[in-house]
Amino acid sequence: MWFAGSQALVSFILERELPSESFSLVAEEDSGDLRKESGQDTLNRITELVNDTLASEGSNSFSTLTTDDVLVAIDSGKSEGGSVGRHWVLDPIDGTKGFVRGDQYAIALALLHEGKIVLGVLACPNLPLASIGSNQQHSSSNEVGCLFFAKVGDGTYMQALGGSTQTRVHVCDIDNPEEASFFESFEAAHSLHDLSSSIAEKLGVKAPPVRIDSQAKYGALSRGDGAIYLRFPHRGYREKIWDHAAGSIVVTEAGGIAMDAAGNPLDFSKGKFLDVVSGIIVTNQKLMPSLLTAVKEALNEKASSL
Ligand code: AMP
Ligand code: MG
Repeated sequence: MWFAGSQALVSFILERELPSESFSLVAEEDSGDLRKESGQDTLNRITELVNDTLASEGSNSFSTLTTDDVLVAIDSGKSEGGSVGRHWVLDPIDGTKGFVRGDQYAIALALLHEGKIVLGVLACPNLPLASIGSNQQHSSSNEVGCLFFAKVGDGTYMQALGGSTQTRVHVCDIDNPEEASFFESFEAAHSLHDLSSSIAEKLGVKAPPVRIDSQAKYGALSRGDGAIYLRFPHRGYREKIWDHAAGSIVVTEAGGIAMDAAGNPLDFSKGKFLDVVSGIIVTNQKLMPSLLTAVKEALNEKASSL
């Protein structure tokens, strides 16, 4: 319920900054609990926090929002997306479990145009500016908080959250899986760790998995901190577009590829669900063919052992 505050802010600012567009937002939160009697204290506190944040933005061109304004801004996120027109896609707090633990989380915003993601912004407040992998060092600073952004055809850039210097980033160029490391969910409930370790073994990856929450994985991959991201949810789970829209363009504009486990491109045009075969795999151009082979073998082995 608290995360709806982040959704209210992004929704309000997008609508304010883009007044001439017909506004469509596909987002994770809704105002249901905040409209209940039991949600009133939280709604009041969220409204205060949203107003404080807008005031600290330094803009005086807004009047204080009421609780109703906040509810309306949250509910602007009810769009279903699809293959026609322009839709903003938002995960106001991706990686809730990481956020609560004080680990990685992300605010993930993307623009879907005629069924394709054309813009993505990924804020990762707890991600170090320096590499979290062994492959590359971007910065020797201890600073934490990264913003990644990508526009189709224009590459991916990173800057410190609150900073202004932008650096173009690229996925790593490793072609030998023995030198590769891979990311996966921290939460075993979100991705099959056994399956990814079997894939890594088949591929010849030596390094242990790097387990972190949220689309911060896509950000870290886009700057070459690791070479591979494997995501294999438990049976029956349906991925949502807001969990991958911003992350996937951040990685692809940095030179990477994101596909489902059968090698299909991710299709964001089907509404709020992202239907994928078995799971999502992300890596650079050089490693993708052998990764697809390893995934196929591991999935076949798993199926025959059932
Ligand atoms: P991650 O931090 O990469 O594990 O992914 C976080 C996202 O996983 C959250 O935004 C959730 O929407 C999503 N999620 C929630 N439940 C599941 C599940 N059972 N399997 C896979 N993903 C899930
Ligand atoms: Mg999420």
